[in-house]
Amino acid sequence: MLSVGVIGTGMIGRDHIRRMTSVLAGVRVAAVTDVDFDVARSVAAFTGAAFRDSGESLITDASVEAVVVCSWGPTHEQYVLAAIAAGKPVFCEKPLAPSQEACLRIVEAEAAHGSRLVQVGYMRRYDPSYRALKAVLATGELGAPLMMHCAHRNASVPGFYGNEMAITDSAVHEIDMVRWMFGEEITAVQVLRPRRNSHGGELQDPLMLLFEMASGAIVDVETSVNIRYGYDIRGEIVGENGTASLGSLSPVRVRLGGKASDPVPADWQERFQTAYDVEFREWIDALRSSGRTSGPSAWDGYAAAVVSDAGVTALRTGERVPVVLAERPELYAPETPT
Ligand code: NAP
Repeated sequence: MLSVGVIGTGMIGRDHIRRMTSVLAGVRVAAVTDVDFDVARSVAAFTGAAFRDSGESLITDASVEAVVVCSWGPTHEQYVLAAIAAGKPVFCEKPLAPSQEACLRIVEAEAAHGSRLVQVGYMRRYDPSYRALKAVLATGELGAPLMMHCAHRNASVPGFYGNEMAITDSAVHEIDMVRWMFGEEITAVQVLRPRRNSHGGELQDPLMLLFEMASGAIVDVETSVNIRYGYDIRGEIVGENGTASLGSLSPVRVRLGGKASDPVPADWQERFQTAYDVEFREWIDALRSSGRTSGPSAWDGYAAAVVSDAGVTALRTGERVPVVLAERPELYAPETPT
């Protein structure tokens, strides 16, 4: 039984706690904390976990073997660094940290520690349809991948959602996914601004991102965050011999009134629920069997932050922005992300 401490009992923190207490085996939530003590105390009472009054005291708690960080992004660095200092595995929701400099500090701390402790919550790598797509690519039957077309569409977004969040909050998932899918780094980013969707008011929506991959392949990512009809994630790889795309995700097809239709997920929780379950199951199983984590690494979190920053600069300037990564520590070999 793996004993986990959870920092941050907001929306996704509570969902991961539900996952670890009601869905998955081999894990228990030993302690929780949040800046909002009342919420953390009520979650603790509900789950039977201990309440701790700070992230640091939770991390050093002897009953906590592994840490899950679900607090607000700007707090991630301090908790991930504290977990590394304590030598405890830490699952950190994305982003690893809000700046590439902070992500690099985490990379350096983990490299100095000498073994992997950090996993970042890029859950698309655990989604069955993305895994099936990667398996097709791995057969080599498509030939070399030349392009990938992606779409990341939300029905609507909250009022605080600003222009850059389409890159830093939404497309950052495609940034991680495509590095993993292609097994190579993104080397440059451009951002085009199509005609504006009137549903978004002043928001620059949609956007079209272009990623140049190290191999020369090109990936385009449409972000549309006011598309009204639902939450729709698309991906199609164009290879030398054929194409492969994410399949329909609807478990049902409705034929009614002379029309056939597939329901579209309402939001990301519905679309990626299985991915989150698999992500946590594999993290827990890996820690229980070997004490090691093998999912998206601190280096992956850092690389996503650098590409995301390049995207923000490209959005602001309209220029093609090269992606410049620091030297990768040996800890994160092999050469290509896996
Ligand atoms: P949320 O509902 O606002 O939850 C964040 C929680 O952390 C809040 O309860 C917040 O308290 C608390 N918190 C803030 N500072 C803290 C501190 N110093 N110590 C302990 N707790 C602290 O946000 P969320 O939607 O759950 O998002 C949390 C993280 O998960 C974000 O990094 C987000 O990007 C990530 N996320 C990832 C995915 C994914 O697809 N992988 C999806 C959703 C969210 P207050 O509300 O009182 O500030």
